[in-house]
Parts: sequence; structure tokens; C-alpha cells
Amino acid sequence: MSDLPIEEIRKLFAFTRVYLDQQHELFGPSLPDLMTSPEISAEAREKARLLDEFQASFSACQNCKLGKTRKNLVFGSGNPNAKLLVIGEGPGADEDETGYPFVGRAGQLLTAILKAIQFTRQDVYIANIVKCRPPQNRKPEPDEVAECMPYLKNQIRIIRPAIILALGATAANTLLNNTDSLGSMRGKIHTFEGTPLIVTYHPAALLRNPNYKPDTWQDVQFLRKQYDLLVR
Ligand code: SF4
Repeated sequence: MSDLPIEEIRKLFAFTRVYLDQQHELFGPSLPDLMTSPEISAEAREKARLLDEFQASFSACQNCKLGKTRKNLVFGSGNPNAKLLVIGEGPGADEDETGYPFVGRAGQLLTAILKAIQFTRQDVYIANIVKCRPPQNRKPEPDEVAECMPYLKNQIRIIRPAIILALGATAANTLLNNTDSLGSMRGKIHTFEGTPLIVTYHPAALLRNPNYKPDTWQDVQFLRKQYDLLVR
């Protein structure tokens, strides 16, 4: 540690802080042992076990070129028994550094959006279309998406959410296998392999263009309504 330049040490502390904040947000003040806590159902425990096993099975994946430039593969995180699954496009710089999805500025905005409709990050599971960062945050290319999608599909089969929220056009177009505009996909209930799916803007787009906020608010209220109908 003493050989590290001061900037690197600062960065390390900053990411440790982000990680601990995220764990606090996910699990509250005391971190339960998922495998032994009596508050965790047998179903959640089994899903957590399956997800861990699955994550370990491809932790060194090099199936596409993104494997060569990533620092950390970002598998996904949250409640393995979540009824709401949130899916974004791909990891950014902060996510690549930490190995966790949505921990940067867009992640903080996502946490606030979820909170506004009475979800904590402990309630949901969050993943991306591709698990390694595309260089310069470019869109993932079709061959990368094709290689990575089987992982997400398997993750979805393990979690079995009641509803999916797709963030941004890349996530929505990939999951719905179309090329429709984001605007035309909003406000409707689509399905992904039988699971209802709702589309809204990616939080990174909201950071770039706050004019999308009223539409996003409308979308997430619609999501909450559908969630409440599906999950009783
Ligand atoms: S993006 Fe997906 S397919 Fe490509 S290397 Fe990473 S885990 Fe493997």
C-alpha cells in the first residue's frame, strides 16, 4: 500500500466507501449472512447459492473482446429473490473499478428513483446486458451482446422476477429483440420470455438531459402500479 501513489490510495478509499455505502443500502446497518440468517427464506438462500455458483462458473470469461479490457466483471447485485429486476446497458468506469453495477453517479440517481417509488436496493436485483465495460462507455456491439446475453438469461431464470424494468434503448431493444425507439416503447407492458417488462430512460441519459425526468417519473409510477398488481 505504501508504494501506491497518493491518487491511487485516494481512489481505493473512495471505492471502498462506495462499496460499503452500497452494502448498507442493500442490507441495512448489520450485514446478515445470507446463508444462515433466519430472516432469509429457503427460496432466497437457494437462489443466492445458484447465483454464486453461476457467477463463479464464468468469472474469467473471455468470450468477447470486452474481456480483454475490463478490470472487473460486473455480474449483478441485489436481492436474489427480488420480484423486480432492473437491467441496464453495461458497466461504466466506477462499476469496472468496483465490480458492482450502478455505483457511480447514474447508480446514485437510480437508487433515488427507486426510493421515490418505495423500493430500496435491498428489494431489487440489478444487472446489465453486458457484464464487462465497453471501452470509453461506447454501446456494446452486437457480437458482444450475443456472447453475453446467455449469462443474463440464465440469471433471470434463477431469480424469476415478477417484472423487469429495462433502462434505456440498448437494454430494451436487446431484451425485446427490436429496433424501436425508446419513446415508442414507453408506457406499455412488453414481455421477455413470459415476464412483463417496462421501459424507461437510462439514469445516465437523465444526467445528460434532465428534461427526461417527468417522463421517467411517469414510467416508474406505471412500474410501481404494475408491480403492486403482480406482487401481492
Ligand atoms: S462481456 Fe460477457 S461475454 Fe464478454 S467477456 Fe465479459 S462476461 Fe464474457
